[in-house]
Amino acid sequence: MLYTVGNAPDNPARKSQTDAPPRLSLTTPVQYLKGVGPRLVPLFEKLDVRTLADLLDHIPHRYEQEYAQRPIGELVGDQIVSTTGEVGSTQVVTGRYGRRPRFEARLLDETGTMVVTWFNAAYLRNTIQPGMRIRIHGKTKRSRGHVQMINPRWEKIDENDPPPARDDRYRPVYHATDGLTSLQIDAIIQRNLDQALPLIEDPMPAHYLKQRELPSRSQAYRLLHHPDGESDVASGRRRLALDELLLLQLGVAMRRSLMKNEFMAPALNTSDAIDKHITDRFPFELTPSQREVIEELRSDLAQPVPMNRLLQGDVGSGKTVVALYAVLTAIASGYQAAIMAPTEILAEQHFLTMTEMLAGSKVRIELLVGSLSDSHRADVVQRLRNGDVDLIIGTHAILSKPVQFAKLGVSIIDEQHRFGVEQRAQLRQRTDEATNLHPHTLVMTATPIPRTLSLTLFGDLDVSTIRHLPPGRTAITTRVVTPEQTDTVYAYVADRIRKRNEQAYIVLPMIDESTTTTGTSLKDVQSHVKWLEDGPFAGLKIAAIHGRRNKDARDRIMHQFRNGRIDALVATTVIEVGVDVPNATIMIVEHADRFGLSQLHQLRGRVGRGTKRSLCTFIADPTTDDAKARMEAIGSTTDGFIIAEKDFEIRGMGEIFGTRQAGLAPFRITELPRDIELLRMARRDARAWIEDDPRLAKPQNAAIRKLLMETYGGKLGLADVG
Ligand code: ADP
Ligand code: MG
Repeated sequence: MLYTVGNAPDNPARKSQTDAPPRLSLTTPVQYLKGVGPRLVPLFEKLDVRTLADLLDHIPHRYEQEYAQRPIGELVGDQIVSTTGEVGSTQVVTGRYGRRPRFEARLLDETGTMVVTWFNAAYLRNTIQPGMRIRIHGKTKRSRGHVQMINPRWEKIDENDPPPARDDRYRPVYHATDGLTSLQIDAIIQRNLDQALPLIEDPMPAHYLKQRELPSRSQAYRLLHHPDGESDVASGRRRLALDELLLLQLGVAMRRSLMKNEFMAPALNTSDAIDKHITDRFPFELTPSQREVIEELRSDLAQPVPMNRLLQGDVGSGKTVVALYAVLTAIASGYQAAIMAPTEILAEQHFLTMTEMLAGSKVRIELLVGSLSDSHRADVVQRLRNGDVDLIIGTHAILSKPVQFAKLGVSIIDEQHRFGVEQRAQLRQRTDEATNLHPHTLVMTATPIPRTLSLTLFGDLDVSTIRHLPPGRTAITTRVVTPEQTDTVYAYVADRIRKRNEQAYIVLPMIDESTTTTGTSLKDVQSHVKWLEDGPFAGLKIAAIHGRRNKDARDRIMHQFRNGRIDALVATTVIEVGVDVPNATIMIVEHADRFGLSQLHQLRGRVGRGTKRSLCTFIADPTTDDAKARMEAIGSTTDGFIIAEKDFEIRGMGEIFGTRQAGLAPFRITELPRDIELLRMARRDARAWIEDDPRLAKPQNAAIRKLLMETYGGKLGLADVG
């Protein structure tokens, strides 16, 4: 992105008053640029280009080696070349022996004429029409004394297009739109480039650019818009990508340094007596893995600096008691604790589990979710502020403005993949105004963070991992089957429910009837319940649960399911995270190819929680390569760490940044994992940089600091940096 910091916007009214063009700045609207008539302004708008800065940031998406364009009469055979001309006659020639029709156009200029052929392209008859001027690029062929071209790339030439180049050129190709061609954009950029480039400021200190042998930012833009060849483009890209990565890494490193060196947290009592007191409450022995993680937590919590830890452990690995351990450590020292879960169902479940484990203790627990009545909520908020609640469990409602803590010591975020980075920052931002203390934070996830991500978004966290499941777990048998086997699957499951009293989850992608764009209808919760009642599950107790049911109904159903009074729970992915019913040993996922890999793994984690052998059946009809890869992966391993890496491989960085981990601007130039080496370098450099100047207060860092605060100040919670 171009940094327009400090450039006052131009007053567009000026031009209409006097004829003198406004002084050029990066915020100058495109309409004042050379070569941009009023007709083009709305077209540029379509490309999100409104100002000179936007135009410069309209980076070519590819490049083409353009050979000097030649008139038709000068073309010889076997040459990669371009030429332009007017379309004369055209025809569709039907192939013999069932071959597809080809489209032929005669192209002419002042020097000659030639025939151009596109195979399998009868549809071109509607786009390439006599009288039109087109430019073609391809390989010439000589046949029976005539030069021809077969299947060349072509584009329409607008009368506004610049005259063809007479020299070879490495030509940028821009995203274009109807009425505004890449050629025209190219010409406009070339006309304005010399005046625009000096306006681009460079926030990087000169010594750093020199050390890393980087071009200046304005040079980088020149290299991208006017390269002499591939290596120019690579060098320009490298600079701009590094800027993106470095900025994020500086933010993360600064955050980390602040947490470690400047923020204060309450030093909690983690004595052995307290430890015993806490673990005595747990209904089971901690596993060695859990113990190890708890030791890491204990040493963090005893420090007067905020803990900032990520706890990763596969579904069912027993993260909840680790969270409870941190909670009770805070409460034992007279502090409050908060647990934030991504859904109401999950918050409610934590509330139940913890209330149960803490029965008979003095700990005062409350639930805070969106569906509370106003008066109930006001009461909880009031007591929280007065310090009359020790543990609050809720959804992001906990983040809402009126919620204030008397003395927050520990905050925990469960299943972080559902939350953005910003929310993470918000929760740990809760400072105690009287003492200026920050809470210790623990972020928990069942989706292990792939290495690349852990280097970026989660770069400021210390990581603990629970590597092994608690004892007594039975393996889950996973089957991936085709829709043809549906009846067999349900008959078998019905049998197990009837004969062995097991319970089942059945997961569908939709709540009610709906059709996809392709016209294939997806099964939905409501129709499926009917189908089961009238068919394979006749006589069994079936209930539906999904996000549109209110809290009371969901509570009632979950309660009945837990108590074994419901045999089959038909649900959407609301049950994806955290739900824990040991007797539920069977899961069927319909249209499994519609779900993401990590999501399938999470769903599967709902079973295999008791001592009986569990079964998970994915009914799928994968049509894309990605979907096939997902089905293959889910069927071949139950290891969450392998699943997470595979998922990342299949989906790539873009999607994870864009949707799941929403909250941080996706990179414009950087592409991961392709730019992983650059990422590593940025991370190293940012750390060294922050070590040398933790608040970027040195004069040479002033520009980058300003930019950092504008870009990530809020998102990474750096705003309180002096
Ligand atoms: P997750 O990591 O997915 O949040 P939970 O904390 O819900 O997992 O734990 C899953 C199940 O394992 C729960 O029923 C919990 O009571 C049980 N569990 C956790 N730790 C142990 C342990 N050390 N020994 C036996 N069972 C355990
Ligand atoms: Mg959990």
